[in-house]
Amino acid sequence: MSDDTIVLACPHCHGLNRVPQARLYDRPNCGRCGGAIFAGRPFELGSENFEAHAGRAQLPVLVDFWAPWCGPCRLMAPAFAQAAAELEPQFHLAKVDTEAQPALGQQFGIRSIPTLALFHAGREVARQSGALPAGEIVRFARTAFMQYAQGN
Ligand code: ZN
Repeated sequence: MSDDTIVLACPHCHGLNRVPQARLYDRPNCGRCGGAIFAGRPFELGSENFEAHAGRAQLPVLVDFWAPWCGPCRLMAPAFAQAAAELEPQFHLAKVDTEAQPALGQQFGIRSIPTLALFHAGREVARQSGALPAGEIVRFARTAFMQYAQGN
């Protein structure tokens, strides 16, 4: 990896894009589908595209493991969307519906929802269970990533 570029996964087509770090704040578009790489809102992930974002991309991804029948999950959804607008482009925020994607929930041993888990370059950096307001979601992501980056 070169220091001045970063590999980003597109939230629309899940293609990988290498973008200069200096252009992160210039609303980069995907070279494959033309969509905005930072759309200002969370996107859904499934087994077929999880690895592109949490494994191959170099941007940390905060994942909300949720389910449609879970009241606290639905309550947290607007807060998570608000946190996405605040945390981009330093983070991507994604959602995994554990009912539609049971394999992902099992792979990561998700026992209660909502659970937030932060991934970076194939590693789970931190996790937190329970619904949080937007400010706490933002703080959790920033603090956990800073501690992880210092430990590397
Ligand atoms: Zn794309």
